[in-house]
Amino acid sequence: MCAMSSVLVVEDDPAIRTSLIEVLTGHGLLVRSSPDGFGALREITRWLPDAVVLDLGLPDLDGAEALRMIRGLSQVPVLVATARDDDAEIIRLLNAGADDYLVKPFSGGQLIARLTAVLRRSAASGAGPGALGAPGGAPDPGHAPMVTGELRIDPLARTVHLGDREVGLTRREFDLLAFLARNAGRVISKRQLLAEVWRQPYVEEQTVDVHLSGLRRKLGERASRPRYLHTVRGVGVKLVSPS
Ligand code: CA
Repeated sequence: MCAMSSVLVVEDDPAIRTSLIEVLTGHGLLVRSSPDGFGALREITRWLPDAVVLDLGLPDLDGAEALRMIRGLSQVPVLVATARDDDAEIIRLLNAGADDYLVKPFSGGQLIARLTAVLRRSAASGAGPGALGAPGGAPDPGHAPMVTGELRIDPLARTVHLGDREVGLTRREFDLLAFLARNAGRVISKRQLLAEVWRQPYVEEQTVDVHLSGLRRKLGERASRPRYLHTVRGVGVKLVSPS
């Protein structure tokens, strides 16, 4: 765990909130809490926490709604705590911008493990605290813009252009596209994408399909008529320059 990482706990149940705060402070984290969604949005913009643990059953905002509002403000990693252990719900949350999830009831050990993973990914991607501003530091070669056909991916600015048009992608769609572009021409399996882009074994391969189809839609193509993103049936997907 990064020393003195800051975590915002959003939980309306006082007993659960207290126990989460105890676990997190016990691991040397700086913790603040909010019992509702709007209070959480305020803390995210003012305090700029390194990560957010978000309960989905809040009194003022529906979970997916809270997530979308957070994503409108910040790229801060969000770990959602859900009571519903079903695929459709979890895929919906990941699409709404969650970085990972925990199914209630969960142990302190699980919380710390997932949180450590999202903080590590966030540090590796240069999102940094609150991630409201531009990432600091000098560009390195791995951050050079990647160009394939009309597609231009700028890892530092985290922007994608198709010709003159900027393509608005979610954080995960961007990471997925950037990874495929770095490996352009190579077939990448879904399992490999889960390991390299999601960096965790808990996610269903179907999640990759959901993000791929979102990405295709935004790039204006279909799996049946691909331009950039080609599915190799039973093997994986590759990004190629359209001929
Ligand atoms: Ca609740």
